[in-house]
Amino acid sequence: MSTPMTPPTMRFDNRVVVITGAGAGLGRSYALEFARRGAKVVVNDLGGSAQGDGADKSVAQTVVDEIIAEGGEAIANTDNVIEGGRIIENAMDTFGKIDIVINNAGILRDVSFHKMTEEDWKLIFDIHVNGAFAVTHAAWPIMRKAGYGRIINTSSAAGIYGNFGQVNYAAAKLALYGMVTALSEEGKGKGIFVNAIAPVAASRLTENLIPPEIFKALKPEFVTPLVVMLCHENSEINGELFEVGGGWISKLRWQASEGATFEPSDSFTAETLKEKWHDVEDFDHSYNPSNIMAPLEKVMKNIGTNRSSQKQDDK
Ligand code: NAD
Repeated sequence: MSTPMTPPTMRFDNRVVVITGAGAGLGRSYALEFARRGAKVVVNDLGGSAQGDGADKSVAQTVVDEIIAEGGEAIANTDNVIEGGRIIENAMDTFGKIDIVINNAGILRDVSFHKMTEEDWKLIFDIHVNGAFAVTHAAWPIMRKAGYGRIINTSSAAGIYGNFGQVNYAAAKLALYGMVTALSEEGKGKGIFVNAIAPVAASRLTENLIPPEIFKALKPEFVTPLVVMLCHENSEINGELFEVGGGWISKLRWQASEGATFEPSDSFTAETLKEKWHDVEDFDHSYNPSNIMAPLEKVMKNIGTNRSSQKQDDK
């Protein structure tokens, strides 16, 4: 027996959400749910193939039609995310504000590294990384001025753990997490919270990778609750990375060994390092660094300097 549904209390009335790649898969599910919860939605989608060829303007419009049929508010935008400034301009011209950006648009160019062309590498970086940059960079001053924003970047397990045939995609997807770690530091004082998700869901990007019986249970709708929660005004979660799929959600963090230490002198050689290698890999003695000062403090301690963190000026 399934548990009864809780009535939605997380509302997004008067919030404007820009979702890239919202014409299908995960993005479509986010768009429908935000609209149901009162948000005004910019449904961006170029409508190209899963490999990034072609374009189809009807893809974004179909989702907008679905939203309007349910009584929601949305506009279609068919710009390429690489020209993210145009998407943000379109959103501002129509709704006059931007509260939430979900960088979700993506394609695949899977091929083993020795067969990978420069185009396979660059296209993946253009759409995933430069696309997320362009959209976010255009929305950032608007959010800073408003003192409010929620941003989601879409990372991937392929980037976190690596996957054969996805060197380009893995590198780009982890870049999107790197963007989150640093941007969350810059946004927190301005009420802007930035997080990353690594989803698993049935879509055209995964239909050839996931067996059919499992594919059916991996609805994009089982990723959406996390995105909705992280983007709500009451959420102060910032700078985190979550894995999510099939109803399972988990937060990731770094774990580092306490490590080996040496006198920083000529006596520290590859040979003395080899003797203490066990300590480098000893996770029975470990900690969970959560900011850039944590490893720096270990280094400083070892060189006998206990300099505490210096506050960064607002550059
Ligand atoms: P999808 O193909 O169903 O949706 C992606 C959408 O992005 C498509 O509608 C496509 O037209 C659009 N798009 C592609 N390039 C674009 C561009 N340049 N400008 C505007 N729109 C563009 O795939 P999905 O599985 O829903 O993927 C959504 C995101 O999640 C992607 O970033 C993907 O890499 C990531 N992801 C998905 C999975 C998964 O299991 N499905 C796993 C890890 C990461």
